[in-house]
Formats: sequence, structure tokens, C-alpha cells
Amino acid sequence: TRILGIEGTAWAASAAVYDSTTDDVAIESDAYEPESGGIHPREAAEHMHEAIPRVVEAALEHARETHDGPTTEPPVDAVAFSQGPGLGPCLRIVGTAARALSQTLEVPLVGVNHMVAHLEIGRHTSGFDSPVCLNASGANAHLLAYRNGRYRVLGETMDTGVGNAIDKFTRHVGWSHPGGPKVEAAAEDGEYVDLPYVVKGMDFSFSGIMSAAKQRYDDGTPVEDICFSLQENIFGMLTEVAERALSLTGSDELVLGGGVGQNARLREMLAAMCDQRGASFHAPAARFLGDNAGMIAVLGAKMYDAGDTLELAESRVNPNYRPDQVAVTWRGRSER
Ligand code: ATP
Repeated sequence: TRILGIEGTAWAASAAVYDSTTDDVAIESDAYEPESGGIHPREAAEHMHEAIPRVVEAALEHARETHDGPTTEPPVDAVAFSQGPGLGPCLRIVGTAARALSQTLEVPLVGVNHMVAHLEIGRHTSGFDSPVCLNASGANAHLLAYRNGRYRVLGETMDTGVGNAIDKFTRHVGWSHPGGPKVEAAAEDGEYVDLPYVVKGMDFSFSGIMSAAKQRYDDGTPVEDICFSLQENIFGMLTEVAERALSLTGSDELVLGGGVGQNARLREMLAAMCDQRGASFHAPAARFLGDNAGMIAVLGAKMYDAGDTLELAESRVNPNYRPDQVAVTWRGRSER
């Protein structure tokens, strides 16, 4: 199976071609970088408008070059796109592009949930059977585990996503977007100062810690110390709930997903926790962690193989599409 994947929920205009025979994933991405502040939905949509045709053309070019069937055949078997969650104006551009491509190439359309894609790429690259997944992305943070035909949300942020929380602090400090890598670099020289730590059951909250971090900065605490402590507390919270989820489900496999998953300290904490309980830990390669169309194409192929394609009338995008709304069609019958 060969699938064209298109991603554009927020900042990454991305297209990819996945070939399930060779397991090769070719990704073309073009990132939107705000000149100041965080992601502006209108500017992000303008970026999608401009960049999506370009990355799609590059991905299709690759598909044509590597296609060994007759040239009259379409270079891919289906077009998969991120249907949500994400910024409405961005999603609509991606949805329109995907519908148009599916019609011109005369191949089916596959609607992929972006959060489930962040999770499934880790399951795919690890080969784990039924892992707990920690999605640590910009606009989201949640723990998912599969049960009875759906990914269940075991725990999640009660306010902002984890990356967005970190980016709000760096915006306050005057650092450019995205802030996560800058906090990671600054934390190297920091020492611990007290900041809030909020976990309730398997849910967690970042708003208190962010306000306290900004306040500390205004009060003159060295920024390196705040960055170090932010990482310790935020990632400590995520590690605590991930451990609770492993314990509750009895799973001994954890996968990490989302852009914040590129952070070495977060990976170190999760790996140490898993090691202590005899569980396996997997974090996908960096190119599959931040938003990328590779994960959309890989899950799109699994859905396509399961016959899970969309009629045009059902192909509307959904900015609030939750992972537990997805009826999982692509996992073995015995698992359901
Ligand atoms: P979502 O996938 O939830 O829709 P998104 O599209 O904003 O959200 P991603 O592409 O998964 O998210 O991740 C982007 C986030 O990752 C940004 O907030 C960025 O600051 C953060 N990030 C990137 N690298 C690092 C790092 N090394 N440490 C911490 N955070 C990081």
C-alpha cells in the first residue's frame, strides 16, 4: 500500500508518502515560524495556503519516481489527511486540498485523527503490541490506552497543552517561538527552585506552574533556574501519571508521542521510570515526534487496509476531534 499523507493542524505544512511494502516514509515539511509571539491562527492558515501545494507536489513527485506500476496508475492508493484536532482555518485548507487530490487522482480519502497518529507512529516504530501512550505535544497532553475498540483517555491536562504551557513562559521572557528547545538548553545550567506541582489522579494542570514561573522571572530568579525547575516539575508530573497508567492497565510498554517528546530530560525520566518497573520504553525518531505528515500516512495506510475510507460527505474537519471518538478499525480482531 502507498499512501499520500497531508498534515496541517497548526504550524507544520507537511506531506509524506508511505510505502508499507518497504516501510519507507518520505516527508516534505515547511514550518510556519511566527515573527513575534506564538502561533497566530490566521497567519498559520496563510502559511498552509501557500505551503501545502508545494509540499504535496514534492511528495507526489517522489511517489511518481518510486512507483513501479504503469504510468496510467495513480502513484498512491489513497490520500490521508489530518481531520482534527487543530486550528479550524488550517484544517479547512488541508481538508480542501485532500478532497481535491482524492478526486483528481481518483483514489479514496482517509480521515486521520492527529492525536491518534501521534500515538500510532510510536506503536508502529516500536513494534509494541498494546502500549500506554503519553502524548506530549504543543496543544495537548494526555495518556491513552486501547480498550474495546477505542483509545481511552486515561488522563489529560486540565488546562493548556504541555508545549503551549512552556511556550507561554518563553514568550513572557521574550524568547522566540518555539520555546521548548530554548528551555531545554537553558535548563542545563540551572538549579532547582520551588514551583507548583499539580497532579489529580491521572489528570494534571500547568496553569499554576506557568503563572508562578512568570512571577519568579519578574522577581529576578535566574531564568536558568526557572527553566530547570519547570522541566523537573512538568516532566515529573507527566512521568508520575504515565507510571500510574502503566500500573492501572497492567501494560509493560510505554510509547512517547508529540513535539515535546524531543526533550532529552523528559525521555530520561520516562526511561528511568520504565526501567525501575521492568517496562519497555520507546520514543520515535525526532522526525516523527513534532507534527509531520509521516505519521498521518502511516496510520492512513493501516486505515486504508482496514477499508476505513471516507465518503466526501463525511470528510468535514473537526477542530475538537478527540482521540476517543475514533472507532479503531485497524487493530486485529482478537484485540478488540
Ligand atoms: P498538537 O500536536 O497537540 O496539535 P502542536 O502541533 O503545537 O500540537 P507538536 O508539533 O507536537 O505540537 O509540538 C510542538 C511543541 O513542542 C512546541 O510547543 C515546542 O515548544 C515543543 N518542543 C519542541 N522541542 C522541544 C524540546 N526539546 N523540549 C520541550 N519542548 C519542545
